Amino acid sequence: METLRGLSLDSKLPRLEFQMLWQHVLQVPRVWLIAHDGDPIAPEKLARFRELEARRLNGEPMAYIIGVREFMGRDFLVSPAVLIPRPETELLVETGLRHLQGRMAPRVLDLGTGTGAIAISIALDRPDARVLASDSSAQALDVAQQNAQTLGAAVEFFHGNWYDALPDVGAFDLIVSNPPYIAASDPHLRQGDLRFEPPSALTDNGDGLAALRAIAQGAGHWLASQGGLFMEHGWDQAAAVRGIMESSGFSRVASLPDLAGIERVTGGIYN
Ligand code: GLN
Repeated sequence: METLRGLSLDSKLPRLEFQMLWQHVLQVPRVWLIAHDGDPIAPEKLARFRELEARRLNGEPMAYIIGVREFMGRDFLVSPAVLIPRPETELLVETGLRHLQGRMAPRVLDLGTGTGAIAISIALDRPDARVLASDSSAQALDVAQQNAQTLGAAVEFFHGNWYDALPDVGAFDLIVSNPPYIAASDPHLRQGDLRFEPPSALTDNGDGLAALRAIAQGAGHWLASQGGLFMEHGWDQAAAVRGIMESSGFSRVASLPDLAGIERVTGGIYN
């Protein structure tokens, strides 16, 4: 019979991915795999592994295969209906939370919530906040709702395009968004994980700035005095987004670098 040790020798997967798939198939922690690497593997488990291995070797993102991705230290359910949360988006959450410091019972809005990772992370860190989130995809909202329920976050979800989805709840202290910002011409859309992710979560089918522009231009109507808007954007869009925000009536407009030193989040304050 096959063993994990034997299988690992001729698997084409990187070691970490091999382990992640086996953890998923056997529903065990990583240390278990190491302690039991000489145990015989049941044929039906091996068949299941082979299926998932083939999908991974075909380029499908690991997060879609195992159905989960970690973000801000929590496990979020993901499906092909949603963008897979990225580590750099933690900067957007941290920036939003910093803006909320010293504001009691703030109102928060996350536009294009996808998995709900941003809204849920903020709601869990600030239980006194009222957090609303919208998405134009009903399937994405199903995923977000499940995540909110599993993680115990009180987020109110709305279906529709950006602000159109919202009830008249009054002024927000914070609006955050990680909108589709990849230009239609960007070859990255046809590479790696992005090939499998929902196009509507990645690109505006134009210059990459359309969603960032629509969110910034619409924000004034929805923000409280001294409310903040912070948006994630692409590696080369910071100056353009600062320009959009300044001409949309924002002050103290600034961009923040992610862990790789790339200006990744731009925000400002509405008077
Ligand atoms: N950060 C993603 C990427 O470049 C894109 C996400 C987005 O468009 N909001 O892979």
